[in-house]
Amino acid sequence: MAAAAGTWAFSRPAVERMRRLLLEGGLATDCLQEAMADIENDEKTGRFVVGRGGYPNKQGIIQCDAAIMEGQPGRFGAVAALHGIGTPLAVARKVMEETPHSFLVGDGAVAFAKDQGFTVEDNRSMMSEQSTEAYQEYLEKGKSLKKHDTLGLIALDTFGNITVGVSTSGAPFKYPGRVGDSPMPGCGLYADKEVGAAVATGDGDKIMCFCPCFHAALLMKQGLSPMDACQTVVQDILQRTGKENMFELGIIAMNMKGEVGAASSMPFPYCIWSQGKDSVEQLMQQC
Ligand code: ASP
Repeated sequence: MAAAAGTWAFSRPAVERMRRLLLEGGLATDCLQEAMADIENDEKTGRFVVGRGGYPNKQGIIQCDAAIMEGQPGRFGAVAALHGIGTPLAVARKVMEETPHSFLVGDGAVAFAKDQGFTVEDNRSMMSEQSTEAYQEYLEKGKSLKKHDTLGLIALDTFGNITVGVSTSGAPFKYPGRVGDSPMPGCGLYADKEVGAAVATGDGDKIMCFCPCFHAALLMKQGLSPMDACQTVVQDILQRTGKENMFELGIIAMNMKGEVGAASSMPFPYCIWSQGKDSVEQLMQQC
């Protein structure tokens, strides 16, 4: 059973791409990386929030976070505060596959990417016209926007491998070096081939305090469906923070049967496909 899912409406072309690649017999990790790269490297899709054309930090530099986790134990790689590279998830995969480490950040991550043959671009070429304008406006008006999203993808291949990946330029105009939940294992993503995978999006400074993706996987291990697992995770956080302190959180989970569930504290569109279905479906999770 092959299946694919993605956070937000803009994940649709990526889920579409994973659908085609998975049906051709592609491996989950390869399919996910290819689909992710298309959006990371395109300044129009995922505008302001992912890779090229993302919102820069306070100093005008686009710094991206990305991570990948396979369902096999210990298969994880991440980068954070990475600049000058249009495909951050591909660098995260190299961390997983080519180093004894799991997580590289900042200049160290950039130097590693260079060693691996990635072209490190000048920040100006990473910025789109729109992200440059938005930064100018921020400098002039000190207006701090709220908009941020993570492209989170899950791929289950016909061989029974599951992979989850995330990529984001994080909070707009953030402090240089700020890292969100997205690349942190258990927080922004988690995969376990015994149960499935989960991926989150929203206010990363808060999400990282609750390890929602690990929690969702654990609940699926205890027998909950992906939908019940996601709902339980959000309810649990809501109960602990209280309604007034609840923050933006959207989570999707997939089990090894390719079933998908979601929950959120805000209206949260997401895209899914599973083998046997002709097309990708966009669903809306209401809070
Ligand atoms: N969680 C991401 C971050 O805080 C952004 C998002 O998903 O909206 O960096």
